[in-house]
Amino acid sequence: MKAYPKSFADFVESRYPFFVKILETDNPPGEEEKLAEVLRRDMLELDAKTRKDAVGNLMGYIGEGKHAFMLGGHMDSVMPCKDVKVIRKGNVVKSDGLTVLTADDGAGIFEILTALRYIKEKAIPCPPIDLLFTVGEELGGLGVRKLRKTHLRAKQGMLLDRADEPGVLVVAGPFKRNFRVLFKGTAAHAFEAEKGVSAVHMAAAAIAQFPQGKIHRGLYANIGKIEGGVAVNQVAEQAVIEGEVRAFTSLEAEELMKQYQRIIDSILYKFSASGEFAPEAHLEYTSRREGYHHDPCMPLIQALCAVQKNIGLGTKMQVTRACSDAGDLTNKGIATLNYANGARRVHTREEWVDMCDVILITWVLVNFLQYLGENPDILMSMEPQK
Ligand SMILES: [Zn+2]
Repeated sequence: MKAYPKSFADFVESRYPFFVKILETDNPPGEEEKLAEVLRRDMLELDAKTRKDAVGNLMGYIGEGKHAFMLGGHMDSVMPCKDVKVIRKGNVVKSDGLTVLTADDGAGIFEILTALRYIKEKAIPCPPIDLLFTVGEELGGLGVRKLRKTHLRAKQGMLLDRADEPGVLVVAGPFKRNFRVLFKGTAAHAFEAEKGVSAVHMAAAAIAQFPQGKIHRGLYANIGKIEGGVAVNQVAEQAVIEGEVRAFTSLEAEELMKQYQRIIDSILYKFSASGEFAPEAHLEYTSRREGYHHDPCMPLIQALCAVQKNIGLGTKMQVTRACSDAGDLTNKGIATLNYANGARRVHTREEWVDMCDVILITWVLVNFLQYLGENPDILMSMEPQK
């Protein structure tokens, strides 16, 4: 690999206190304001015009011109993420073990702002940039779902929200649907159970029959919550099961919901066979995340591959079942890639990131933005080059 210049590594290291500031600022979902202020101040030094929308998403606009490029990440982190104490040993950055590190997505945000700072200081050509730092990503993309498309100029962009090593690029993500089934039976005393219909029994029948787990490579379902009944000596009147489905096409998710409905219908038929009772079951599902699939021939992806090759870094394209804001943004009309941020073991207290990876990713970003600045046709075209 062609190493980045030492002066570049020194530049990134000179901003290490800012990285620590990002990581150590409390940022649970719903409480992103403090971090937003830290970022906003740094964005102003990039001469960005900033804006916050009604839900708290932070945006910044750098440069003028038609074909802007979006760079983004999310400001919230999973709990426990309050009172983070950053500890660095050599190049490895971790928390003190009591919290997550919040490198998901603090590392991505730091890499973006640091690359842009370097570009500004060295006057490197770069397209107009839209910055987007969302709220509530860890709550199923609460912020991105309420984002107004008109607040961004870009039609293409990249998040740095893939917890993986430099070079990793996510080109496809799943559709996620949450489902809930409410079973209503008839209560009775346990010693005369024939006078009732058990909602718990119906729920159990559904759980036993619903396809779940890894159904196939592109379709996963999970029943994660079950609740029902109030007393051991009462035939349960009500039970609820809740779960989620992840699929690479929305059709597959819809088909699975239809299959669940057919199973529920057959259970209702069986439990009402005596004719004495009319048990009920209601399946409802909500769309939680939109999926996406980018053509690897898309000029933007080709450009990133070329830049990484030039640096001596291979591109690892991934299709993932993990959700991110990239799907929702792509479905809003901003074709969005999700690139590695270097964070590992995210969502655990053992989360860590290596500063060598942070520097390398920032270097990739600098080179990629320069490439886009020198080849503005890439952002003009959305058509895959076959
Ligand atoms: Zn994340």
